[in-house]
Amino acid sequence: MKLVIDGARVWDGSGSFHDKGTIVIDGGKIEAVLTGAERDTYEIPADAEKIAGHGKLAIPGLVNAHTHLYSSLARGMALPNYSPSTFTQILEQLWWRLDKALDPASVRMSALVGAMEAARCGVATLIDHHASPHAITGSLAAVKGAVNTDVGLRGAFCYELSDRDGMGIRDEGIEENLDFLSTDDPSDSMSTALFGLHASFTLSDDSLAKVSESIPDGAGVHIHVAEGPEDEEQCQAEHGLRIVERLDKFDLLRNRSILAHCLHIDEAEKDLVADSGAIVVHNPRSNMNNAVGVFDIAGFLKRGITVGLGTDGLGENMLSELFTAGILQKVSNGDSLAAGFGDMQKILFDNNPQIASLLLGAQLGRIAPGYSADIALFDYNPPTPIDAGNVLGHLLFGIAVHDMHVSDLIINGRPVIGSGHFTKIDEERTYAQAREVAAALWARIA
Ligand SMILES: [Zn+2]
Repeated sequence: MKLVIDGARVWDGSGSFHDKGTIVIDGGKIEAVLTGAERDTYEIPADAEKIAGHGKLAIPGLVNAHTHLYSSLARGMALPNYSPSTFTQILEQLWWRLDKALDPASVRMSALVGAMEAARCGVATLIDHHASPHAITGSLAAVKGAVNTDVGLRGAFCYELSDRDGMGIRDEGIEENLDFLSTDDPSDSMSTALFGLHASFTLSDDSLAKVSESIPDGAGVHIHVAEGPEDEEQCQAEHGLRIVERLDKFDLLRNRSILAHCLHIDEAEKDLVADSGAIVVHNPRSNMNNAVGVFDIAGFLKRGITVGLGTDGLGENMLSELFTAGILQKVSNGDSLAAGFGDMQKILFDNNPQIASLLLGAQLGRIAPGYSADIALFDYNPPTPIDAGNVLGHLLFGIAVHDMHVSDLIINGRPVIGSGHFTKIDEERTYAQAREVAAALWARIA
């Protein structure tokens, strides 16, 4: 059965914009985008599902290239004795206390709530980095179930391997990654697996050697790199190498590998990343919130490195994250022209879908024939002219600044949100359950 979005403003994600277009979807793919006389003469099949597009703006479904769904139930949590003065202390006093308290019920509920909030913001694909040291085995299947099945989003999943909780938990983390990688079906464009690593400073040479020996050929890793300055300091003091050199030594710089943050790597390491084809993901709001530094967007882009954008678990709103990425560069460079629209559009609308397409084996990121049908619709009545040349300005200064949510979200040709409501989930009931699960989780935090 076809799905037809009739009469919306349509931005293809690149250089094409139509004031009135009809998008025809069939079998998970976009079959046609009809405009002008072609649209006028098109007869919507009687058995097609139809979405009235009048007053709506259609854009490609968004990608969050680095997130932590497990952090979804931290909102409003009181933390006694919280007074970090370094990034490592933020991990020790907040995130490692939270993740140790996660049990199977809170793992699933965190993923469910996070995926729902992503959907509301027009996000169709999540690249997640999961940690629950006392509920590891089966956790990736649970996160995938919530993301893929319960909500209907695409996902790339991995478990955050670390030495921090002892060798037994480390080994369980290796097994969870390998088990999940072994179930990865390359023909399933809704889900894929990466090998998750926390960071260089929480992984010994023995652990990295085990990963290097066991990771399947062609698989990538998903790791935090030089998020705080102490990651590089520890690497040089203990291993006599910079972090990117150390990852290269263990053959983990791969073209499917995602290096999150890379705030404190040096110019030679950037060259090494460029040569390897590895992906770098910028997370501006998290970096600002942790006061860990400012990402060198221009330095990575000029080397041809694929720079993606993520939220690092600080919400799931990618348009708003992009807005922040821009203003952070402006304020830190003292230049109101830093991070121009060209670079911003490239990061969110070219690079993020390119990353997701590579990992998932899908064709994502454009509203054009042959692409996967991931489409976000916003009720958006622009008070100023809108066209292909200024649509990014509308997304950033209209939809992002005003925190607008989608009216409809189509993923793989299927409606996930329709007329403002989730198609498969009772939001009110789920959130009521989430509050109970969150309260129990908070009570377990030591
Ligand atoms: Zn992260």
